[in-house]
Amino acid sequence: MEPTMFDLADYKIDVTNVFRNASPATLVEESLRYEKGATLADTGALIAYSGDKTGRSPKDKRVVRHADSADDVWWGPINIGLDETAFFVNRERAIDYLNTRERLYVVDAFAGWDPDYRLKVRVICARPYHALFMHNMLIRPTNEELQDFGEPDCVILNAGAFPANRYTTGMTSKTSVDLSLERREVVILGTQYAGEMKKAVFTLMNYLMPRQEVLPMHCSATAARDSERSSILFGLSGTGKTTLSADPQRELIGDDEHCWTDQGIFNIEGGCYAKAIYLTAEAEPQIFDALRYGAVLENVVYDKADHHVDFDDSSITENTRGAYPINYIPNARIPCTAGHPSDVIFLTCDAFGVLPPVSRLTREQAEYHFISGYTAKVAGTEVGVTEPEATFSPCFGGPFLVWHPGKYAQLLSKRITDHHANVWLINTGWIGGAYGEGHRIELKHTRTILDAIHSGTLADAPLEQEAWFGLSVVTACPGVPDKILVPRNTWKDPAAYDATARKLATLFHDNFKNFADGVTKAVLAAGPAAQGSGV
Ligand code: ATP
Ligand code: MN
Repeated sequence: MEPTMFDLADYKIDVTNVFRNASPATLVEESLRYEKGATLADTGALIAYSGDKTGRSPKDKRVVRHADSADDVWWGPINIGLDETAFFVNRERAIDYLNTRERLYVVDAFAGWDPDYRLKVRVICARPYHALFMHNMLIRPTNEELQDFGEPDCVILNAGAFPANRYTTGMTSKTSVDLSLERREVVILGTQYAGEMKKAVFTLMNYLMPRQEVLPMHCSATAARDSERSSILFGLSGTGKTTLSADPQRELIGDDEHCWTDQGIFNIEGGCYAKAIYLTAEAEPQIFDALRYGAVLENVVYDKADHHVDFDDSSITENTRGAYPINYIPNARIPCTAGHPSDVIFLTCDAFGVLPPVSRLTREQAEYHFISGYTAKVAGTEVGVTEPEATFSPCFGGPFLVWHPGKYAQLLSKRITDHHANVWLINTGWIGGAYGEGHRIELKHTRTILDAIHSGTLADAPLEQEAWFGLSVVTACPGVPDKILVPRNTWKDPAAYDATARKLATLFHDNFKNFADGVTKAVLAAGPAAQGSGV
């Protein structure tokens, strides 16, 4: 295909070979020709490599300080301020770099399936694999929509192969992902991890949507067939949003980023970005089958002879990923919108083995756990290190928040109340002991629990009050052995359970101190009891 000679003079870019909205076939061909190391997997997916950075770089994210938005932004380690001049230095650096390229790629597409809220996004990048990634992840315009596209609402200038200058004011490394809320522009230097682009769009939505009383959410979403009511799964990275939303019993609305309006929910994206590590056709057939021609497989290792991907190989990174258009999942609902959630589910991967597989939350507990945003990481792979590490990330999506977490928590609380949603906490992490002692709950059991929530069975399930977190623990769920549902009973040594629970409760308390001022007494009281009750 010939480049379409798209004119980027508005950006002071004078490269003549500019591909605008090239087809996947063209972008695959360009990648195979010009990307270092790119190849086809035996399934037809494009294998590409992001270079040194194989995950997001949250410490290198910057938000331009500007009088118009300065009072709105929750400044701190998540939103680190950047002088406007430094932003323009980085922007110019990106443009200078893009101007050195022989070929550039433009993707004009939408963010947000609800036409009332959608953004016109323009991506300008130097790597064809980045263009294919965003072609998959944004909502693809029809030919007609593309012709009438006009000026974009938001522009991503991706010069990720070129570093930031460490001497530019405010830079602390060679990587910088800079967001100007006023210009609605994102400049990327020094990282080629494709996920930065999709999360930059999400961050912008996290700023814009609450101004219209719309709640942006780091969650996946599904809906029952032919039903308006939906179900949403919040959770930090690795807790199971994408995995559990690929559910053959239900229609997929989206796997990662949604908004909740007065009308219902809509997906922000047009594709999914699934973790590929240890992926098997047996456990996750829908995702496995989606990684075919048109999909991008990032940072995976493959057999040089037959191009078969080894999903168990984490030698490049644990964070191997596959990006595919949402319609590659057979039961995706297009357009990706649905009615109000009947169930709001918080996923946590608790490597301490303390939280129950499923418990039901009160309104106050919902607010407490939403603001806490707890999950745990399994400590490094060093021999003998078995201590899990707690992570708290407000609203289960701290890195993408722009306003104070309280703003999102209030919006969620109101919508849960208005639409009578049930709120559940699901632990997709350890049972029978902490990491090292117990094991991760089987995926099939978590799926069965989720089915029981969706069928309404769990709303009538027997509950038992748990001592440390005050949770109403579900003690019986069809298809799941009763004996795994109450954590204290699954530990060999109940005293060790209590000690670990006390430790985790203390970590929750310490974290919540940062937010105590902004919440009601009832929400504060909905946290774990410092000493447990009745133990
Ligand atoms: P991200 O925000 O980074 O996209 P995510 O929440 O979408 O993260 P997933 O991609 O769904 O996370 O990752 C969950 C991983 O945990 C998958 O690799 C899945 O196979 C594995 N897993 C193991 N046991 C379970 C379980 N019981 N429930 C959910 N996932 C499980
Ligand atoms: Mn995901």
